[in-house]
Amino acid sequence: MIKKIFGLFTLILTLSLTLFSTAEAAKPQAELLNIVAYNLDRETVRIQIDYRGRLSDSDINLNAAGDMMTLSMNNTSPGRINKIIRRNIQAKNIIENVSIDYDDAQTKINFAMMIDFEVDGYTASMKADNFGKSFSQVIIDVVKNKKTRSPYAGNFSGDLTGHVIVLDAGHGGSDRGAVGPSGLTEKEVTLAVALKTERMLADAGANVVMTRRSDVDVASPNASNTEELGARVAKAPYDAEIFISIHCNAFSNPQSNGMETFYYSASPESYRLAALLNDELLRYGGLNNRGIKSANFYVIKHSACPASLIELGFITNFEEERLLADDEYQDRLAQAIVAAINRFFYE
Ligand SMILES: [Zn+2]
Repeated sequence: MIKKIFGLFTLILTLSLTLFSTAEAAKPQAELLNIVAYNLDRETVRIQIDYRGRLSDSDINLNAAGDMMTLSMNNTSPGRINKIIRRNIQAKNIIENVSIDYDDAQTKINFAMMIDFEVDGYTASMKADNFGKSFSQVIIDVVKNKKTRSPYAGNFSGDLTGHVIVLDAGHGGSDRGAVGPSGLTEKEVTLAVALKTERMLADAGANVVMTRRSDVDVASPNASNTEELGARVAKAPYDAEIFISIHCNAFSNPQSNGMETFYYSASPESYRLAALLNDELLRYGGLNNRGIKSANFYVIKHSACPASLIELGFITNFEEERLLADDEYQDRLAQAIVAAINRFFYE
């Protein structure tokens, strides 16, 4: 009996406290949903903060001083962010620690940096989740200070430990693919870029499966197209998470130019992969963007995991042939692929 009364008393107390605090402080207009941070490349970390609710520009303030950066969000509650934050912070070479302070008026997200850094404000945009529900996203790109930047601003240094990724260097062996005006063959470009990508992914801890690692047919020189492409798809282990087929474009008109990425329309995750690859190939490669397109190419249609076929550029275009043959440009293409893969897992 005493227990019961006590229980009732607690309930009344809780209710009155709730009513009291609601009346006292303004109800937060927004709630944090998620924070992720990942390397775009060795020098750049992208931080994404998702929140639901309405905030004006003046509610969001970014301050950087010394080795600390703080994003203050007025009228925002931290939601459940405290509990999930650690595993989402992946940029271990730049961000040392993330902490959250909050009170009734605001939430502050504090980033302790390991390096001198530069940050050029933030961008905010509306997004929609997989269920069409909208949320807002703040993006902050943190760049290593130029003084401390390594001369080769290249290699990705994220963490892809345990992820299983299949790279398919298009053509090979008896099939040289398209040929450029100077004699560059598609099969050598795709292999060079695939091998560079493999190295970077392996450095990041990924488990990389190559359909070929040298100038060979994957099935056999006499195999039919379907047998050859089927042999490539069959290289993917049961736990493969991503399949990327690397190609170069070709056309009779040497003016045709640009890159594009393809997905099989039945797979939304393949679209997401193709979109990320497109985004990063544009960022790193800088060619004309022909877009993200759906197609029924054998390898992407028959892949059991999310798959994309990418056309790096036109080998039949004189300028793009020169780029595709260039060792440093191939590095950039490999970085683009790795950055897209990283975003696929962490975004
Ligand atoms: Zn091809």
